[in-house]
Amino acid sequence: MYIAVASGKGGTGKTLVSTTLALCAGDCSYVDLDVEEPNGFIFLQPEIEKEIRFTLPIPEIDEAVCTFCEKCAAACAYNALAIIPPLKKAMLFPDLCHSCGACAYVCPTPGALKEVDKEIGRIRIGRKGKIKFIEGRLNVGRPSGVPLIGGIINDYLNMDDLLFVDASPGTSCPVVESLKKSDYVILVTEPTPFGLNDLKLTVEIVKELGKKTGIIVNKDMGGRSGIDDFSEEVHIPILLKIPYSLDIQKAYSRGIPLLESLPGIKEKFTALLNRVFEKK
Ligand code: SF4
Ligand code: SF4
Repeated sequence: MYIAVASGKGGTGKTLVSTTLALCAGDCSYVDLDVEEPNGFIFLQPEIEKEIRFTLPIPEIDEAVCTFCEKCAAACAYNALAIIPPLKKAMLFPDLCHSCGACAYVCPTPGALKEVDKEIGRIRIGRKGKIKFIEGRLNVGRPSGVPLIGGIINDYLNMDDLLFVDASPGTSCPVVESLKKSDYVILVTEPTPFGLNDLKLTVEIVKELGKKTGIIVNKDMGGRSGIDDFSEEVHIPILLKIPYSLDIQKAYSRGIPLLESLPGIKEKFTALLNRVFEKK
């Protein structure tokens, strides 16, 4: 079962929740697809067994063969290529390249343009007790984490495992890629106007994807909030409320898992998991 933990923005407690779920379940995989800023390892402290380079093809132009016809630059939707015929110069801006292959497809001159592998990130695989740990880490400056996220999901996950996936934050392509194959999505939010706004945006995505969904409210101050009203309005249950506590925040800043900073929460997370399993 693929359980994704998502939120409309960073800093709401997504990693806190996903690592707690993995530590409660025990025999499972924790997958950090927050590839621009993976930090689940801080709480799980896994032993890393291997690190794999993740590469994508980018063009390399041989100026001795190139006729400087500019067809490749015209085909590039990302302005990653500049051809300067008077100077007989071909320039690639690798950080803009999305490895779409269009330039190689349109080049009419054999031998002028070939594709070479460029590392865009790393995949780290390890273990913490019974928990298998998989993490994507995008290199600084890369325009999109989507290929790395898709590569991990397609090639490194065993869909027969119990998977807790720490999805990318936000509401753009990386989070959609992280949620596409999920069986259930847990949305983490905060009881603030900003939290509610981002929750609404993320709910639009999960509804579009047709996913079963539940909400966890982090930093709950007690009583009702706009999240309760919205939950009833869209018929998405609130699975759990984690209380606001300075002790939890201090422990979080030191990389101490929630199971240690809030004794008694394990039973609540276990009950939450049983509720999610019933929905499968
Ligand atoms: S399309 Fe091929 S030949 Fe034309 S400018 Fe690009 S690399 Fe050179
Ligand atoms: S692979 Fe695509 S994005 Fe990259 S330079 Fe070629 S056309 Fe542009």
